Amino acid sequence: MVEVERSILEKDRKYREKIARDEAVIQKVRDVLMPLAKDITVIENGQVKEVKVTRLGLGPIDTPFGKFYEFEFEVGDRWSEYNVLVKAGLDDKFNPKFEDSKILVRMDSACKTGQLFHDKTCDCKLQLLKAMREIEKNGSGMIVHMPKQDGRGMGLSFKLGTLMLQDELGYNTVEAAAALKGMEFIEPEALDPRTYGGVIAILRFLGLDSRFGINVATNNPKKIWAFEENGYSVERTPVIIPPNEYTKAHLDAKEEEFGHMLREDKK
Ligand SMILES: [Zn+2]
Repeated sequence: MVEVERSILEKDRKYREKIARDEAVIQKVRDVLMPLAKDITVIENGQVKEVKVTRLGLGPIDTPFGKFYEFEFEVGDRWSEYNVLVKAGLDDKFNPKFEDSKILVRMDSACKTGQLFHDKTCDCKLQLLKAMREIEKNGSGMIVHMPKQDGRGMGLSFKLGTLMLQDELGYNTVEAAAALKGMEFIEPEALDPRTYGGVIAILRFLGLDSRFGINVATNNPKKIWAFEENGYSVERTPVIIPPNEYTKAHLDAKEEEFGHMLREDKK
């Protein structure tokens, strides 16, 4: 019994020594767990908007594509939740320090069915992995993942409905969404309500204003425009995933209906 008590006391002593020695770092991490909010002005679809951006915390993750820092943000728009993966060094206040004047950025509208549960009928998971690989190759960059933009912004439940029509009736993703909405004609604009002002606001929160150039890893012209209308000079890195038997119909529909640029030669 005495032996056990002694070893507990010894463990406590070692722990106290450790936290006394590392107090400064521990306090810094406590500090970044305190929500930090800023109001940021952006342009979204031609409208000037003030958006509240709150950083909720951050920490490192070690991935097959090297180390990223994951930042958690809450944004005062309809997408609210933003997970941001940053590959860059951090300054002494844990703010990212990009060495380049051009930032490689991927905006990732989440896809729970594909990215988490490995549904094979879309290319979202492979696109995310490819973007992470591009960022690793580039040496720096960031991915802004928006869980509430699942189903092209129409939500996960709606998307599950479209998958049902695709499975039962062989519709493509766009036909299925239009049919579920009761549309008489396919109106692509109404089938993709996503907005990207929140992403711009997060970049500005992190100090990445339009003095920085942006290299957008995307096939979606709307994502390029989001940066252009906010005064950034923009380049594009295509994120092409060759179609397979499961994804071909999905990719054809994205290309035809939404003008996504899904071939390397269509830059
Ligand atoms: Zn998907």
